[in-house]
Amino acid sequence: MCGVIGVFGHPEAANLAYLGLHALQHRGQESAGIVSSDGRQLHWVREMGHVGDIFTEERLRRLPGSSAIGHVRYSTTGDSSSKNAQPLAVNYAHGQVAVAHNGNLVDAANVRSRLEAKGSIFQGTSDTEILLHLLAHSQECDFSSRIADALRSVHGAYSLVFLSESSLVVVRDPLGIRPLSLGRHKKNGWVVASESCVFDLIEAEHIRDIDPGEMLVVDAERARSLRPFLPEEPRRCVFEWIYFARPDSIIAGQSVCAAREAMGRRLAIEHPVPADIAIAVPDSGTAAAIGYARASGIAFDQGLIRSHYIGRTFIEPAESIRHFGVKLKLSPVRDVLAGRRVVVVDDSIVRGTTSGKIIGMIRAAGAREVHLRISSPPTIGPCHYGIDTPDRSKLIASSHTVEEIRRFVGADSLGYLSLEGLHQSLASVLTSHEHRGLCDACFSNRYPIPLPVPMRSRQLRLLSV
Ligand code: SF4
Repeated sequence: MCGVIGVFGHPEAANLAYLGLHALQHRGQESAGIVSSDGRQLHWVREMGHVGDIFTEERLRRLPGSSAIGHVRYSTTGDSSSKNAQPLAVNYAHGQVAVAHNGNLVDAANVRSRLEAKGSIFQGTSDTEILLHLLAHSQECDFSSRIADALRSVHGAYSLVFLSESSLVVVRDPLGIRPLSLGRHKKNGWVVASESCVFDLIEAEHIRDIDPGEMLVVDAERARSLRPFLPEEPRRCVFEWIYFARPDSIIAGQSVCAAREAMGRRLAIEHPVPADIAIAVPDSGTAAAIGYARASGIAFDQGLIRSHYIGRTFIEPAESIRHFGVKLKLSPVRDVLAGRRVVVVDDSIVRGTTSGKIIGMIRAAGAREVHLRISSPPTIGPCHYGIDTPDRSKLIASSHTVEEIRRFVGADSLGYLSLEGLHQSLASVLTSHEHRGLCDACFSNRYPIPLPVPMRSRQLRLLSV
């Protein structure tokens, strides 16, 4: 999971990109970067670390011009390297180009091997670099046509922002797996971002989503919407609504917060339990817990407090840090929990170890009973489209029954939202058109883009961004 932003036609483009990256920081904490254009050449700053630490005033001054793109990247095992920090920027036969990518190309390993066989030399292990090589090889005569040409050679999930000296090109893959929104700054210029929460911060108006398969080309004269790919049935990622996106974002025209609350309401209907309080695993479980509390009539309370000064444990790079991180991240509120029958609502269970530690923490704070409710179906398969979920063998629900998972995490009861319940929850907030085009593969094993053969899981993980 990563976040991208693009700004065009604003005198403080890099500053807006910087602020926008703050709003997208939850999508990746490994590295961040901004590339700007002053109309003649590109300028860039890319570093490992958090947005607030990287971009000092002095560094932002090194990013002049009225257009910029930015990126936040999250960690993948063994791949935490500044060589993969984005946006990537290169010189080629037609000038300079930079790119920032959210998603994953499923055939990256095969395409890279073909390019290497023809003599291409790669600097890092990111699949995004493949796009720059394909772009450089394209015989098309203009920037946007070269980009379309390159993208027709690959398959997978991509929400991309490209910057040349004079234009911004924005593309979303034909299935629209990763989100991408278009906004207009109140004073001047266009903004695109992975999530609409960026627009609130920088005072831009949210106009609409970039459509699946759409390419938007923005230059000094105009903004043009193109459709360079054959149309396909969209497959937006349902996990964005469950966990990844910020609750104040709008995806496919609907509030992420409202979708999560609808999932919590449905969960209460599917898995009721007598309890004194309903609490959330903050932050991503909060809206679903409120929905659960409202539908069940159980009082919502704040039983766990989250520290916001460390990253998500789900995306920490090392096993040892992940386990330690649960204790760093969450603290129980003893006064709220002691002596109570507690329903705790979380968005998902991946390996089960984190859930077990949370249940143990709530019990240690004196809770009489702890009932775990999950606002998504069991996660039984990995994501091949830009989310660094572990291999199938490490996903507890791929090999254990709900009762076995309950025993493993130590809860008094465990209930997952059903797949049908997930779809009904989303159907209650999305239009029927939007609701038809969803990817739920990590819950259903119905993968919308087949993996090429051979595709080894390690290669895939190394190349995901
Ligand atoms: S496999 Fe899961 S996480 Fe990946 S795009 Fe599909 S729904 Fe989203």
